[in-house]
Amino acid sequence: MGKVVIVTGAGRGIGAATSKLLAAKGYRVCVNYRSNAQSAAAIVDEITASGGKAFSFQADVSNESDVIALFDATERAFGPVTHLVNNAGILFPQTTLADIDVARFNEVMMSNVTSCFLCSREYIRRAESTGSIVNVSSAASRSGAPFEYIDYAASKGAMDSLTRGLSLELAPKGIRVNSVRPGFIYTSMHADGGEPNRVARLAPQIPLQRGGTPDEVAHAIVWLLSDEASYVTGAFIDLAGGK
Ligand code: NAP
Repeated sequence: MGKVVIVTGAGRGIGAATSKLLAAKGYRVCVNYRSNAQSAAAIVDEITASGGKAFSFQADVSNESDVIALFDATERAFGPVTHLVNNAGILFPQTTLADIDVARFNEVMMSNVTSCFLCSREYIRRAESTGSIVNVSSAASRSGAPFEYIDYAASKGAMDSLTRGLSLELAPKGIRVNSVRPGFIYTSMHADGGEPNRVARLAPQIPLQRGGTPDEVAHAIVWLLSDEASYVTGAFIDLAGGK
């Protein structure tokens, strides 16, 4: 049976790069997106043109019925889901905790943590054989992101606990759960955070003196997901240029 993977939030950025790399390695890929159908379709076209197999599916992964529909659609298209990349995530403009309202805090938690919980649960409930999950966390879980987005950092901290706990629950079944923690990656997420040039501004403070690319993160995700990492579970790879 071939490998079938769902990559959440894959219409752009790290998720898109990961989808392309996984397809090149022979995975059949569900490119999940929430709002931008056009960019998800472009990723699918790119994969198909290179001889890979992919389809796109709209689902808000913070919503339980959307997640069930996402897994149903992937099973119909390609068969049982063998691998999962929990990549979808959001952040809001930089501010201090005192100025974060409850609606924002809850939306960040729903998009970044509840989504990871729901997709992981659906994956486990349906898992027919050993496979693996990779969670896309953030260096913010270590830094706490003071004066920027403590809500986002806390959501990634919760994701790290999910990674650790679930890796131990699933280890006896041979299902591995790992995480990458990117730091300063050139994607449009920083524009959503209110500072499109954030990575370039911070580059001099990064030991490697530059930001990272979505492809550099994708390579780590693809390795952790693969059988090449068969003895690795509950692990975190920091991709933050040494920060
Ligand atoms: P991005 O370019 O903003 O892409 C995020 C994607 O997530 C978007 O395509 C968005 O879809 C999707 N998404 C958000 N909420 C969703 C939901 N509820 N359901 C389905 N899709 C949803 O960001 P990125 O930089 O590639 O980030 C990918 C992951 O890496 C995130 O988890 C982020 O926290 C993490 N990360 C990024 C950096 C960085 O420096 N870029 C650093 C550390 C961690 P739509 O556009 O369709 O709404």
